[in-house]
Amino acid sequence: MKKIGDLRQVGKDLLVQKDGPLTRDLLLEPGRFGLGLVPKKLAPDQTTTMICGFCSTGCSLDIHLKHGKPVSLTPTVDYPVNLGMACPKGWEALSPLSGPGRATAPLVRKDGKLSEVSWEDALHSMVQRFKAIQEKYGKEAVAWLGTGQMPTEELAFLGALGKFGMGMLHGDGNTRQCMATAATAYKQAFGFDAPPFSYQDFEESDTIVLVGSNLCIAHPIMWERICRNPNHPQIVVIDPRRTETAMAATHHFAPNPKSDLSLFYGVARELIVRGLVDETYVAASTEGFEEYKAHVMQFTLPRVAEETGLSETRISTLVDLIAQGTRVSYWWTMGVNQSHQGTRTAQALIALALMTGNIGRPGTGANSVTGQCNAMGSRLFSNTTNLLGGRAFENQEHRQQVAEILKIDEASIPTQPSLAYDQIIERILSGKIKGLWVVATNPAHSWINQNHLRDVLERLDCLVVQDMYSDTETAELADIVLPAAAWGEKEGTFINSERRFGVIKRVARAPGQALADFHIFQLVAVAWGCADMFEAWSSPEAVFQLLKRLSRGRPCDIGGIQDYVMLDHAGGIQWPFPEGAELGDNQRRLFEDGRYFTENGRAKFLYTNPEPMPETTNERFPLMLLSGRGSSSQWHTQTRTKRSSVLQRLVPSELYIEISPIDARRLGVAPDETVLVTSQRASIEARAFVTNNVQPGQVFMPMHYETMNRLTFPAFDTYSRQPAYKGCAVKVSRVGEPA
Ligand code: SF4
Repeated sequence: MKKIGDLRQVGKDLLVQKDGPLTRDLLLEPGRFGLGLVPKKLAPDQTTTMICGFCSTGCSLDIHLKHGKPVSLTPTVDYPVNLGMACPKGWEALSPLSGPGRATAPLVRKDGKLSEVSWEDALHSMVQRFKAIQEKYGKEAVAWLGTGQMPTEELAFLGALGKFGMGMLHGDGNTRQCMATAATAYKQAFGFDAPPFSYQDFEESDTIVLVGSNLCIAHPIMWERICRNPNHPQIVVIDPRRTETAMAATHHFAPNPKSDLSLFYGVARELIVRGLVDETYVAASTEGFEEYKAHVMQFTLPRVAEETGLSETRISTLVDLIAQGTRVSYWWTMGVNQSHQGTRTAQALIALALMTGNIGRPGTGANSVTGQCNAMGSRLFSNTTNLLGGRAFENQEHRQQVAEILKIDEASIPTQPSLAYDQIIERILSGKIKGLWVVATNPAHSWINQNHLRDVLERLDCLVVQDMYSDTETAELADIVLPAAAWGEKEGTFINSERRFGVIKRVARAPGQALADFHIFQLVAVAWGCADMFEAWSSPEAVFQLLKRLSRGRPCDIGGIQDYVMLDHAGGIQWPFPEGAELGDNQRRLFEDGRYFTENGRAKFLYTNPEPMPETTNERFPLMLLSGRGSSSQWHTQTRTKRSSVLQRLVPSELYIEISPIDARRLGVAPDETVLVTSQRASIEARAFVTNNVQPGQVFMPMHYETMNRLTFPAFDTYSRQPAYKGCAVKVSRVGEPA
């Protein structure tokens, strides 16, 4: 095996190290790894723009530099996404960089403790242990878990390095927890994972249907776009809980948890019965409608009323609202995606849009709102479920295209997609996967049924965690920790919910020996002995040029985007943008011509029979636990947002549970009392928030607190393998009472 001491020049930015050990001084040499104080191409005192690194809205922020350091930020006024607005996380985006817990040096576990080592030792240890596992148990005994928080260029690098360079067969990312359902639903229905909308559609609709989406706090700037709508739209929220968005809407429908599939089939039936189908559109642009019609005819009003808990009159009101709209848009997030029949539920919304011709026109669409800042980058370019550029691993022509573009041996490309996240976990449990590389995600906090996951991670022979913090729940379990630069300390592009590419820049120096994930991948490639394969992957911008070539001729073609400078000047650019394309007003939606990406150009109606939730309430666990975002000041596992004292002051410091006054009274629970919440899997403490926002028989907990996922039940959507976080049966009891 090639040692780090044998490294050679690969590309202009990669380590030059022919003789002697890799030293800290060499790593920190200004210019070599981009660790100089003044960011490349930026003057010491200037303002530059970059895309926020939290959610998928993709707001642009003006970063103000003084003496080469970022001192403050303001939202970019003329960016077509946020129009001068930002949520609390955006305003506080710089704080996590200087917060406590940053990983500043590589760590290797010795005698049970993580101890500081040189980069050379850490990489040597990682490579030596992963290779030993592969030699003993086969190539697929090592896998990775990535993230939708990294730039597209880094996602592609990790995916290419993992599969083509290191011979791994399986890698997945935390986008599985977030967007797998929407991606699968679109792919099956439209022929490609293609969210069709532009944010301008929020302002052009006359009827906005939000399903399982607490937009007010989860995507506050998108909500602001709705508030700018001059048409006084009907805002319809479908959610079992009276969320902040439901309170602000014109109409709130609260069906029983996970009865939404029956509800949408019932709505489709009513539209058909009332003669409100756009027959011309259905005939010209879709297939499978007759079968769909036959299926939904079973969902009569009495049946749907029974299954959803909504009265027949209320269901008719919902149908009236949809029928009266001329520009109806459907938007969904995790309430749909994170469910056991999420893919078919998303497709039931797609079907409503198709059958009423509400797609491809201003203010319409079946629109999935993404979660993480680069979930879309992960979906297209992480090389996990799809081969680079939304291709199929199973397709020989696709493998050949990628091999030619990347100038690699076609035989190095696997012929099957990766296993999904939950299947990787199962393989660890069964002893088939022994090594895991976790990059910028925190499964020991975020994965469903957390106690089980932690037990599984402890069975690994080698767990490598690459992260900007060394104190995450997952890093604390690691055998090796690789310190990574954060958003703001590296370069690349994100793709937001409306398919818009935007640039992030290096405006700050990473602390200690932390390196951009991009450079860590370069070093791993060299240490592994496969750097020759990545000679063209010399910088994020060089990789962006590769992505352009990989996208050519694909639905996500970005061949017309010259470079980062063009993206910056244009205010981001939505895909597709093939060579020769015109920007126009830079707000573009898909399917305006009624043609889809399927082989025959038609969108498909897809359906199934609704099935009961995998875990239902019973005498012992009588309450259905819903989960979701708690506030706009918290981000997922709070790994970053908890480092901001400003954001921390805006959120409850302790985990809480929303419980209805009826249930609280029945249980003798007082407001703000600490209670015990117990599921079949765990028991945790939380403060009782007695509120009418949840219905009797249901409780709600925000997902951001570390203990929360100890309770959740591991069920998964059949097609997307996305975890169904939104339903598990619990009981609530007073502390001290027998559980
Ligand atoms: S809405 Fe999302 S992208 Fe915009 S500032 Fe907030 S976290 Fe950042």
